[in-house]
Amino acid sequence: MDLGLKGKKALVCAASKGLGKACAKALAMEGVDIVILARTAATLADAAKEIRAAAPGVKVTEVAADITTDAGRDAALAACPAPDILVNNAGGPPPGDFRDWSKEHWMAAVNNNMITPILLIKATVDGMIQRRFGRIVNITSGAVKAPIEYLGLSNGARAGLTGFVAGLARQTVQHNVTVNNLLPGPFETDRLLSTIRTLAAKQNIPLEKLYEERRKENPAKRMGAPDEFGAACAFLCSAHAGFITGQNLLLDGGAYRGTL
Ligand code: NAP
Repeated sequence: MDLGLKGKKALVCAASKGLGKACAKALAMEGVDIVILARTAATLADAAKEIRAAAPGVKVTEVAADITTDAGRDAALAACPAPDILVNNAGGPPPGDFRDWSKEHWMAAVNNNMITPILLIKATVDGMIQRRFGRIVNITSGAVKAPIEYLGLSNGARAGLTGFVAGLARQTVQHNVTVNNLLPGPFETDRLLSTIRTLAAKQNIPLEKLYEERRKENPAKRMGAPDEFGAACAFLCSAHAGFITGQNLLLDGGAYRGTL
């Protein structure tokens, strides 16, 4: 299927690794010129090289910046002032017990996983409306639908973004601008491994043992592959997806046990 995206421009945040990189790569393979952003220049350069090899001919621009800061967002928007596609993503908050978290922990989680995407949407959505095409995808978490007890910062901050998006998505769709959230379950990325490592250390069990338990408890009997996530993102950004808005799409191998 031709996704109808050739020549479009995308800003993909937190995209040197994991799910963000997979989204950037899938979009680039559809002919989208991409601006990818992450804090570490070296891994960002590696990601850009990989994407250029997978999608020869598209323009891949690197911005080494922290998207959760004003300066980082300014740099991102200077490199991509009028994106047709915005993929919001940032590192997730750390796991832990809410009794150990201060106001500063909560402010950081809300800034990184709620306010940052909202500010980027604010900076780009009106241009999308004027151009009568826009696709905004927020990478959130399966924790929005089924809270994960040790990820309280994520459960809370991402719920705020989800509530905001639910209202906005109904205002923009008449202009062919959609806003949706992709909710990852367990995907094979550095983030997943570092969370499992922290929990394994806390329970005093080997990382491999906990990883195997997690793998087996998923109905798919495996973790998700980032490329599967990227493909779903590319479809949501496609010309064919203009009637899909305000949705929270779980990609979790069936881990969420609800009928609906
Ligand atoms: P990952 O593999 O650790 O990759 C994170 C990416 O984000 C890296 O490119 C990192 O590069 C970049 N990044 C982090 N903080 C940033 C910042 N402040 N500014 C700019 N770039 C930043 O993580 P992932 O697994 O792809 O996770 C992506 C999101 O999905 C996270 O919010 C995570 O909590 C959520 N999620 C993941 C899973 C899963 O199983 N993987 C499940 C549920 C939710 P630098 O460090 O160089 O900046």
